[in-house]
Amino acid sequence: MEAIATPSFLAKSRTQGSSLKPETYTLTNQTRVIIHTAGVIEFVPTQYTKNIILSSGIHGNETAPIEICDELVQQVLNENIILCQRVMFIFGNLPSMDIEKRFVEENLNRLFIKNVELSNNERKRAYILMNIVDSFFEKATQSQERIHYDLHTAIRDSKNEKFLVYPYLYGRKYSKEQLAFMSACGVNTVLLSQGPTSTFSHYSSKFHLAHAFTVELGKVKRFGENDMSRFEQTKKMLLELITKQEPVFKSFEACPIEIFEVAQEIVKTKEDFVLHFDDELANFSEFKKGDLIASESGKSYYTQQNSEAIVFPNAYVAIGQRALLTVIPCDI
Ligand SMILES: [Zn+2]
Repeated sequence: MEAIATPSFLAKSRTQGSSLKPETYTLTNQTRVIIHTAGVIEFVPTQYTKNIILSSGIHGNETAPIEICDELVQQVLNENIILCQRVMFIFGNLPSMDIEKRFVEENLNRLFIKNVELSNNERKRAYILMNIVDSFFEKATQSQERIHYDLHTAIRDSKNEKFLVYPYLYGRKYSKEQLAFMSACGVNTVLLSQGPTSTFSHYSSKFHLAHAFTVELGKVKRFGENDMSRFEQTKKMLLELITKQEPVFKSFEACPIEIFEVAQEIVKTKEDFVLHFDDELANFSEFKKGDLIASESGKSYYTQQNSEAIVFPNAYVAIGQRALLTVIPCDI
């Protein structure tokens, strides 16, 4: 008789939604399983030194990381792998996965702020996720590491296909060890955030002093259409991270890491905001000093230095939101 494949935790989360009740049980290998709510599942092995959150689908159409995490969760549940670390998987915006959009009403990754107003479902989801993250990290002891990788894919091509955004650290030190691990994952481009933001990784970094990054792993594709070979290295290292005491990777000095800081943050203030470059231009494409890059009624935006590069351009954001960042190379 052929085995009937049971739906994955993610599949159940997407189809049963709010009827998926919190539940705790133990696998035969003694790993405790805690289902917090739809899309959030935690695994607690008997011994561990790291508390790790792997989140995906904060933007529902960014499918590759969702597929990677879905598979990892199933491997743990089927006991094909045994965890050495405490790991919580978060599948962020379940309704937006169904409509294959970045979000339903509002960009979830702008809503991780204390006292968020609960005026739509994405705000309610952000509120629930922040509470779950709080109690997850509050259970970590002082000596244990706290890690949160928020996995995304970008809307457009990037000259540097994989890159990460390092949240603002409020004076804390950048972790070269973490960046070396990310390099082993194939992520060699680092963008340093120079001020507070309302992203998920910033939340864990600021309030729980976690090593937290927004990690962009490639380009948006539909479910099932990702070339998973492009994610092999990342998958392998994430698997090592959660199933080994210490993953093995090269030192920071031996890694081909490029680091950038923000030069300008350009906010759309008028409805007629336009970008002055091709819609398909890749992230990290460079301009010369003085090039016109964007404009709107009463205002033009120019690059201010040579080698200033564009990241995350999106002329279609709501008024008052960031439409473009420019970055320049730097050291840490
Ligand atoms: Zn995203």
